Amino acid sequence: MANNVHDFKVVLVGEGCVGKTSLILRYIENTFNSNHITTVQASFLKKKLNIDGQRVNLAIWDTAGQEQFHALGPLYYRNSNGAVLVYDITDASSFPKVKVWVKELRKMLGNDVCLVIVGNKTDLEKERHVSLEEAEQYSEAVGAIHFQTSAKLDEGVEDVFLGLTNKMLEQA
Ligand code: GDP
Ligand code: MG
Repeated sequence: MANNVHDFKVVLVGEGCVGKTSLILRYIENTFNSNHITTVQASFLKKKLNIDGQRVNLAIWDTAGQEQFHALGPLYYRNSNGAVLVYDITDASSFPKVKVWVKELRKMLGNDVCLVIVGNKTDLEKERHVSLEEAEQYSEAVGAIHFQTSAKLDEGVEDVFLGLTNKMLEQA
């Protein structure tokens, strides 16, 4: 079905301030803002990809900050094909939150949902509080791909969305 256009919904989840909005803005607009970005222009941003002749329309959903109030409900992630679960490598408490999200998304969206776990802020390696080994082992155990990124320095960001898209294409 090489001529098919695949429409995929992708959600970003994770604790507030881990860099979800920054990852999206780096990927789509190639920009970075050192302030916490509280205003959202739209509930999702679009990205068109062509992977080996397969056309993909990504709708990448960002939160409006509801995660700060633990109020990110099923309306946000329903019908998602994939999810990017983000933690901050300098914030130990942000990693257990990813584990909660893995359980929630698998329960609500089923085992086929494609999950990518992302440790962001690798430019702050000196302040690392989540070990790479722990994150890799956990990701493998739950069948998720693991990436490390810096939205600030533009490291690994494209790999996240390409890796997830390839996985979603395999499942499609
Ligand atoms: P969100 O609440 O998860 O959407 O997080 P934001 O994207 O608003 O980012 C929260 C804060 O972390 C902001 O001050 C960003 O500038 C900062 N930030 C995001 N990504 C990085 C990164 O890769 N490195 C560093 N040093 N700071 C980052
Ligand atoms: Mg945000």
